[in-house]
Amino acid sequence: MKRSDKLPKKNTQLKKESMSSIKKRASLIFDILVNEFPNASTALDHSNPFELLVATILSAQCTDERVNKVTPLLFKTFKTPNALANGNLGDIKSLLKSVNFFNNKAINIKKMANQLLDDFNGEVPADRDKLTSLAGVGRKTANVVLGQSFNIPGITVDTHVNRLSNRLGFTKNKDAVKAEMDLINIWDDSIWTDFSTVLILHGRASCTARKTSCETCCISDLCPSKNIA
Ligand code: SF4
Repeated sequence: MKRSDKLPKKNTQLKKESMSSIKKRASLIFDILVNEFPNASTALDHSNPFELLVATILSAQCTDERVNKVTPLLFKTFKTPNALANGNLGDIKSLLKSVNFFNNKAINIKKMANQLLDDFNGEVPADRDKLTSLAGVGRKTANVVLGQSFNIPGITVDTHVNRLSNRLGFTKNKDAVKAEMDLINIWDDSIWTDFSTVLILHGRASCTARKTSCETCCISDLCPSKNIA
């Protein structure tokens, strides 16, 4: 076997592409994915910003489906930040038992609810810095809430957006915050929220961490990782 046969295939296109070409390609990819997933929104069930905030905290390292199984009873039992802040921690934990890391998440959502009461008059703030001051809330969670509940553009770099953004040549960073900074320079801010959402859906449907469906992928003509991811 030749030495070159053993080497992993490299995506040489990523090094050569100009920023204007990447931006043009990103815009075309966005148009195709929006067409593929019309009216896309978060898969987390919620009826107000508070519920979305709680659900997004619970979704860290857990599937949306799993979170959607526990939130109906959680939201029925603890309808408001006040109810959750004053709720019994053991009761909260027992409602979250099937969610990954439920112990820490129960502590965080109770603390977060207390912070909402103490610092924000019981309202979810529509501000990134204020949101990230809450227990259990990082940039990813803050951007989900800003985009979905307040129409404030935010890029959600979860595992799918991170993987797809690397495969599509939008970033070479695996670190979520660094990847977000790269995406901010490529995507128009009017599409930050929706691009994140459709990338998540496309990642789940056709371009998972384990398997890529490049032959049937709707954006394969625009993907520098086609058949080599
Ligand atoms: S062409 Fe392949 S690697 Fe590229 S986005 Fe589609 S499925 Fe993923």
